[in-house]
Amino acid sequence: MIATALTKLLHIRVPVVQGGMQWVGTPPLVAAVSNAGGLGILTALTQPSPEALRVAIRETKAATDKPFGVNLTLLPTINPPDYAGYARAAVEEGVRIFETAGNNPGQLIEYFKSQGCIVIHKCTTVRHAKSAERMGVDVLSIDGFECAGHPGEEDIGGLVLLARAAQELKIPYIASGGIADGRGLAAALALGAAGINMGTRFMCTAESPIHQNIKDTMVKATEQDTIHIFRTLKNTARVFKNKVSTEVVALERRPGGAEFSELRDLVSGARGKIVYEKGDPDYGIWSAGIVLGLIKDIPTCEELLRRIEREAEDTISGISNMVKPRARL
Ligand code: NAD
Repeated sequence: MIATALTKLLHIRVPVVQGGMQWVGTPPLVAAVSNAGGLGILTALTQPSPEALRVAIRETKAATDKPFGVNLTLLPTINPPDYAGYARAAVEEGVRIFETAGNNPGQLIEYFKSQGCIVIHKCTTVRHAKSAERMGVDVLSIDGFECAGHPGEEDIGGLVLLARAAQELKIPYIASGGIADGRGLAAALALGAAGINMGTRFMCTAESPIHQNIKDTMVKATEQDTIHIFRTLKNTARVFKNKVSTEVVALERRPGGAEFSELRDLVSGARGKIVYEKGDPDYGIWSAGIVLGLIKDIPTCEELLRRIEREAEDTISGISNMVKPRARL
């Protein structure tokens, strides 16, 4: 067993959080992760309204008696959502763990803390992490450049970002981006993290609500199969490299670049959702991290978390057997 500040705070068995994923963080996956001993997280904006989020929370509670959380991500959107309404609905439904991410989360964090909730805030720079620490969050999720979705604009890989977090932060932090197995968990612990956050790896599990063909595509993919869109709009997102994302990048690279309005129909989340429903990997934009290269199967969440735990323990004991203090040699 790997007990850390995270497992103690959240009352979970394995220090693994399933991070917020648009269209993927739904009750069946969330409950499966929590039942397997990690922390499942419902993605609020995947639900069409705060009322629908209430229903999803009740559905999750019916499927697990273990802790789970709700993600709220504040990024540019085509139809600005009622963030406060989603937050209120989740708190009123009894959710006590939140993952926040994105721009200007101050008011949201203040609200969750005023309601006695635990807040895990995801960020991509040490500067933002320290600012969230001052706002009173409980855990930071330090998101390296390897991640799926929005890595920020500073392009710092997890190895340095986590070592910087170890130098600067006073509260517990978890490692996010680039982690899909027990070696990754062991590395994160070595870098001072209290656990890990995984998204892409959980997309490719038996309980993940996406089409089998997309899961099979992920198993076949390599670490070279992602691309960054929205670099020129300063809203960078790492997504699966396909016809649509390649076209978006080509439009952005034209002389004079591209306005968001010219990209909107290609990149809309509504279109990306159809990828997951119908199983055509080329139909729209869908998020994926470079851990694609590490994913070779489609296990249940239970199998995945047991394996990660075992691999991490083996890696840690392998290292301590290999590196003996001089006096014992
Ligand atoms: P959407 O259809 O509103 O937008 C599609 C993409 O375009 C998103 O990446 C969005 O950030 C970007 N975008 C929208 N307006 C923009 C603008 N004016 N300038 C630059 N970029 C713009 O998004 P959606 O798929 O319905 O998702 C809703 C929100 O959740 C978005 O903000 C999205 O970024 C965010 N998100 C959350 C998660 C999560 O894990 N919670 C994951 C991915 C995306």
